[in-house]
Amino acid sequence: MSAPTQRPKVTAHEARQTAEAARERDWHKPSFAKELFLGRFRLDLVHPHPLPAEEDARRGDAFLASLRTFCETRIDGARIEREARIPDETITGLKELGALGMKIDRKYGGLGLTQLYYNRALALVGSASPAVGALLSAHQSIGVPQPLKLFGTQEQKDAFLPRLARTDISAFLLTEPDVGSDPARLATTAVPVRDDEGDAYVLDGVKLWTTNGVVADLLVVMARVPASDGGRGGITAFVVEADSPGITVEHRNAFMGLRGLENGLTRFHRVRVPAENRIGPEGAGLKIALTTLNTGRLSLPAACAGAGKWCLKIAREWAGVREQWGGPVARHEAVGTKISFIAATTFALEAVVDLASQMADEDRNDIRIEAALAKLYGSEMAWLIADELVQIRGGRGYETADSLAARGERAVPAEQLLRDLRINRIFEGSTEIMHLLIAREAVDAHLSVAGDLIDPGKSFADKAKAGARAGGFYARWLPGLVTGSGQLPHSYGEFGVLAGHLRYVERTSRKLARSTFYAMSRWQGRMELKQAFLGRIVDIGAELFAMSAACVRAELLRTTGDHGPEAHQLADAFCHQARLRIEELFGRLWSNTDDLDRRVVDGVLAGRYAWLEAGIVDPSGEGPWIADATPGPSTEQDVHRRIP
Ligand SMILES: Cc1cc2nc3c(=O)[nH]c(=O)nc-3n(C[C@H](O)[C@H](O)[C@H](O)COP(=O)(O)OP(=O)(O)OC[C@H]3O[C@@H](n4cnc5c(N)ncnc54)[C@H](O)[C@@H]3O)c2cc1C
Repeated sequence: MSAPTQRPKVTAHEARQTAEAARERDWHKPSFAKELFLGRFRLDLVHPHPLPAEEDARRGDAFLASLRTFCETRIDGARIEREARIPDETITGLKELGALGMKIDRKYGGLGLTQLYYNRALALVGSASPAVGALLSAHQSIGVPQPLKLFGTQEQKDAFLPRLARTDISAFLLTEPDVGSDPARLATTAVPVRDDEGDAYVLDGVKLWTTNGVVADLLVVMARVPASDGGRGGITAFVVEADSPGITVEHRNAFMGLRGLENGLTRFHRVRVPAENRIGPEGAGLKIALTTLNTGRLSLPAACAGAGKWCLKIAREWAGVREQWGGPVARHEAVGTKISFIAATTFALEAVVDLASQMADEDRNDIRIEAALAKLYGSEMAWLIADELVQIRGGRGYETADSLAARGERAVPAEQLLRDLRINRIFEGSTEIMHLLIAREAVDAHLSVAGDLIDPGKSFADKAKAGARAGGFYARWLPGLVTGSGQLPHSYGEFGVLAGHLRYVERTSRKLARSTFYAMSRWQGRMELKQAFLGRIVDIGAELFAMSAACVRAELLRTTGDHGPEAHQLADAFCHQARLRIEELFGRLWSNTDDLDRRVVDGVLAGRYAWLEAGIVDPSGEGPWIADATPGPSTEQDVHRRIP
């Protein structure tokens, strides 16, 4: 076993610098969400709702039809949950169907589906088994195909994409025992070497929580190339053959949910990777990972929208027939409001994912903030939806599907869904990190004009220049926040009952921008430390985006004649519910317990309330928080599992 990987010491400043360097700074295309945060409601960017090309829709629908049959006949979600693994024949069947190559170009043997249909396919598979959905999503949304498509050389595409489209499963390896949200600490190294076979890198390190890592054939690995005379080094992305000498999967991780996930701990010990397997230049790894996530992030909210649909179906079927206290439980108002929330929010989640996916396909707008908002909002709301379903099911909501079936009842896995969904708020950018990432973009305009002004390290001359720049920007921007179409009683009239909601979005986006501006002037450089405040700003933006998407989708459905009145009703209900949440968030912008909470945290960390912990036992004992060296394979299941 190799020596423990060294943990780099990283300051908060360095961590932020690393994140900042990986950030895409340029905006070449318009962004609906960015404008929204600046107080400019650009409905024209999302309405009329973009639609897929006829041929894309025909091919997409045909694939969805065969995928549906496959899900109904060959994916046994209950068995996967029971056995905690996806049967080989399911994976083989998915390969035969071409599901590994949904997003890969047809010229490489893939299906070349659009983002819209790819996401619909993931929602469909995820409803049959969230673990299978996660396998396909990790393979295509963050695994090898997407970074290769965006940044790979022609040789790399020719070599790997045909394999990835048909036979090879891939995984994305960034996280390490000591590196979660903060990639600046990344310790896996890739040292350049030249040997008889040519230029290469030698990889050493440990990667944790590698989804698909246990069964993968190809890996994207993020490793740090040391700076040298010849190059600046930095975090770099590589395509690595999973059976390369020196790679061992030492442990198969087990989780609260997604029990079928083939997720492991992978050790790299002197693994030789040919230089031609490097994706992009040295030091570009994090930028590649983040760019991959621009659209990759949409898979997860697609699965969340699918989960909402299932919850709605079960809530309708169950609460309509379960009688207590003289009538169906759905008719008791306390349960009815939950059902309304599930229906309205599911409509909005689908609206958000479909709009953002279709915008990604059109490629007319920059959708990186929309995708991030969709991930944040989808994962948070789906969790609430599933929690409400468990409550509506009462005791049966808490009982496992197997136990229900054993007693002769319908095997409804409500508690499993709750467990399966929980991780969505943690991986692919935790909610806290998504808040920061989106907030960074929301305040970008202010930082770029006032950056030097609020930087204590800058000279008087720099500050004067920044002051002039900021003055020019604000002289144009601020007056635009005073009035807008949201104050005109007849604007957005074609939206009927929804027009008032769009006027609200217009007015509220200006209020949001004014609040952000006020906070910037008040806290200046310290603004980035006001995470609770920024989180609320972002949550308001997410609600406004979801309201816009819901209205635009309802209007699309009205004009195409598909359930128009019902869609308008759901959008109306969603917007009313969202407005109450928004008003509460605005209230808490300036009236909150943030300062008090900070003092309580100080007290907790200093141990001043340790007496409160008396009267319990702690079954977790005293083991180390983070393992330096991990044990070797301990059971049959803990080692690499290959699928034919
Ligand atoms: C089932 C599963 C599958 C996964 N699949 C993959 C995969 O395929 N590939 C891969 O590379 N990784 C994967 N991960 C890792 C996952 O992306 C990380 O768990 C996630 O990035 C969070 O990192 P962490 O768990 O180390 O939490 P930490 O970074 O230690 O964070 C702990 C808590 O602090 C919060 N926090 C951290 N920093 C800040 C900050 N600056 N401000 C505010 N709050 C902060 C976090 O939001 C979190 O609540 C997976 C994890 C799991 C559990």
